[in-house]
Amino acid sequence: MNFDLDEEQAEIRDTVRRFTESHITPYAETWDELNHFPREVYTLMAELGLMGMTTPEEYGGSALSRLSGALVYEELARGEMATSVGLSVQNMVAGSIARFGNAEQIQRWVTRLASGELLGAFSLSETASGSDAASLQCRAENQGNSYLLNGSKTWVTNGGEADVYLLMARTSAGKGASGISCFVIEKGTPGFSFGKTERKMGLHSSLSTASAMKARASKLPSLPWTAGVSILAQWPLASPRQPSTLPATMRESASNSAILSVHSRAFNLCSPTWP
Ligand SMILES: Cc1cc2nc3c(=O)[nH]c(=O)nc-3n(C[C@H](O)[C@H](O)[C@H](O)COP(=O)(O)OP(=O)(O)OC[C@H]3O[C@@H](n4cnc5c(N)ncnc54)[C@H](O)[C@@H]3O)c2cc1C
Repeated sequence: MNFDLDEEQAEIRDTVRRFTESHITPYAETWDELNHFPREVYTLMAELGLMGMTTPEEYGGSALSRLSGALVYEELARGEMATSVGLSVQNMVAGSIARFGNAEQIQRWVTRLASGELLGAFSLSETASGSDAASLQCRAENQGNSYLLNGSKTWVTNGGEADVYLLMARTSAGKGASGISCFVIEKGTPGFSFGKTERKMGLHSSLSTASAMKARASKLPSLPWTAGVSILAQWPLASPRQPSTLPATMRESASNSAILSVHSRAFNLCSPTWP
């Protein structure tokens, strides 16, 4: 079996590697120290087509394969994990609405997400439900033309910065995944607010924010074959959001930096200018 990258995959990897070396690596440490979310870099990534990697070309996306997407995330993570994570969330949101939204939702959000005009966030976790996502408590009440969301979320990557939130809430009483649906809510919607940003051990330039809502939202259509169980909560997470190779990429990048540092110290020690 041949595991070599084809020409297009190698081109994507090299392009993103050059991009990372120019626009991310030199600034990553400062962003991390200042907790700076580099929205400006997302505008540049949009020019490369990275904001719509999971979006069909007809909506302005670049419709990359999963392998190509994984290469993009890896190359970004060489410079900084946070931007790689933020971009993966953006693509989860754009790709999910493109795949599961109705015509109006697609027209309203997908092209603008793929072009980078809008930034997306994914909102599943709650204070009392992380791994056990099916026990989430946020409620959604059908009010005819729209749904009223009532609850709170936590750990929202891109939270507060993002314009469009893909959010899971419960439309019917009961436990388990049954009755969970997926909604889109925009920043600025009355009753939708943001709380504290988590203080983490690392990944400081990636925002992890809490949100609370008693606000109207648009529900993505039900999917008949799921019999009420939202696969949306699973599909984006199964997509190459955070490929398991990312930590390995970071480790490689860190060990390369360490080797360079050791070499330069060894060189300084041997240098004739050393006092
Ligand atoms: C940097 C960062 C970004 C994030 N971004 C997002 C985001 O954008 N959107 C979003 O919705 N969420 C996000 N999350 C939340 C993330 O998805 C949750 O942290 C994750 O689901 C784990 O949930 P938890 O932290 O509540 O841990 P818990 O669910 O409390 O789990 C703690 C530990 O217990 C283990 N465990 C849990 N249940 C069981 C069980 N039944 N049996 C055995 N072991 C068990 C888990 O494996 C884990 O090791 C983010 C988290 C982080 C740290």
